[in-house]
Amino acid sequence: MAYTNDMFKGFKDASVVNFIEKFKTDEDCKDYLAHYKWKDGFRCSKCGHTHFWPKKASPYHGVCKSCRHIEAVTSNTLFHKVEFGIRKAFYIILELSSTTQGMPAELLANSYGINRKTALLFTKKVRIAMKSSQLYPLKGKCEVDEYIIGSKKEGKRGRGASGKMKASIVIEIEGKGIKRAYGMQIKDFPSKGLEKIPDRPIDTSASIAADKWTGYSPMQEKWQLEPKKSPPKENSTFMHRFIQQLKGWLRGIHHHVGEKHLQGYLEEYCFRFNRHLFKEAAFDKLIQRMMGHGHVSYQMIIS
Ligand SMILES: [Zn+2]
Repeated sequence: MAYTNDMFKGFKDASVVNFIEKFKTDEDCKDYLAHYKWKDGFRCSKCGHTHFWPKKASPYHGVCKSCRHIEAVTSNTLFHKVEFGIRKAFYIILELSSTTQGMPAELLANSYGINRKTALLFTKKVRIAMKSSQLYPLKGKCEVDEYIIGSKKEGKRGRGASGKMKASIVIEIEGKGIKRAYGMQIKDFPSKGLEKIPDRPIDTSASIAADKWTGYSPMQEKWQLEPKKSPPKENSTFMHRFIQQLKGWLRGIHHHVGEKHLQGYLEEYCFRFNRHLFKEAAFDKLIQRMMGHGHVSYQMIIS
């Protein structure tokens, strides 16, 4: 088994040429995964035992000495039994993490010669890994707003908004731009306050600009809220530009956004957006998350 290599360095490079050079074969990719899988030694994903027999025919499998389970480098990760080969999976992750603005599953299926359903399932797994860890809450100057999204009647919260997909967006402003952003799908625009407010990834030291809307009142228990200054033109604000770009992306890439998928798309968009200043690290980060997340079956994804 190829693991515990102290010389290992994650691939942090925005060059596609260097990527092609580094990952020439499935073995190159499995070596890479093995580092993350077994960096702390072998562990059976069935029984937790830490002793194994190497499998003669493959350096990427170990046989658990306790329960005889054959642990593959991809076992119990989001790469579990990836049907179309690990190298194609690496290329798709590169596409989705940094080189493109994301690709719909149909296009990935055509580009990589894989089944459409398989491509769809894999992109959903990648989106699971793109979910924010919430370990780095937004700080400093922030702004929050709510929108109807991914539907024909898009716009700000307001009348006739029931039944449409809604999202709460928070941005962190630094200098002359947005540094980071998070989007959260919400069920409604309740007058008594937005659901899941304590879950928001915003540091308590942040100052948050918000509309004078009663829905925000519960946030005042935790954060310093400031009324939004009205700019000369609403469409000149950072928030407005962010939301227009997000909606444009949703329309361009994922023409029909179902309610079940909006949160995943928000995570995908924010994953890339939040790495626009250090794209080189996005691929490696996504690989680590795919390896750190347990197996998710087709049944779990569609239910
Ligand atoms: Zn075992």
